[in-house]
Amino acid sequence: MSSTVYIALGSNLDDPSAQIHRALTALAHLPQTELADCALWYRSVAVGPGTQADYINTVVRLHTELAPLDLLHALQAIETAQGRTRTQHWGARTLDLDILLYDDLSLNTEELTLPHPRLTERNFVLAPLHDLAPELTLVNSKGIERSVKQWLANCGSTGIVQL
Ligand code: AMP
Repeated sequence: MSSTVYIALGSNLDDPSAQIHRALTALAHLPQTELADCALWYRSVAVGPGTQADYINTVVRLHTELAPLDLLHALQAIETAQGRTRTQHWGARTLDLDILLYDDLSLNTEELTLPHPRLTERNFVLAPLHDLAPELTLVNSKGIERSVKQWLANCGSTGIVQL
């Protein structure tokens, strides 16, 4: 039985559009996994330390038979292959791949938190997720339950542009 997973992609270094294209190809070649759909692409203002270049963001839906941690490790291998170095927390990066949702699994371990903890607060993730699953229900850290559409309306669209 395969699981439905949503992954956020972001890049703001070394030709971000090319990084996202390359990451999509890598995701399409993951074992035991089908790349089912890709959202529109967005440009967003960087959140984090200092002055950083804008990000390119999108979200994909996968159907996978990989277990959550195996998937996380496969995504980290793709990040590393695309030159990601983990120097500064929230610093500029060639590629960031986050697991947003893995079916309706809730997990809170040192290595993996599901759903992704800041999902309901980030319009650059919610906007592409909305392209794929507007009615999906998300619960925030305070237990408040809303659809992706409602969380996106709550965040507003400051700092993001659809490409
Ligand atoms: P980042 O700097 O945003 O790429 O964060 C990477 C770290 O977040 C890694 O050490 C992961 O183990 C951890 N992590 C926790 N939950 C998730 C998740 N849902 N998706 C991706 N990474 C996660």
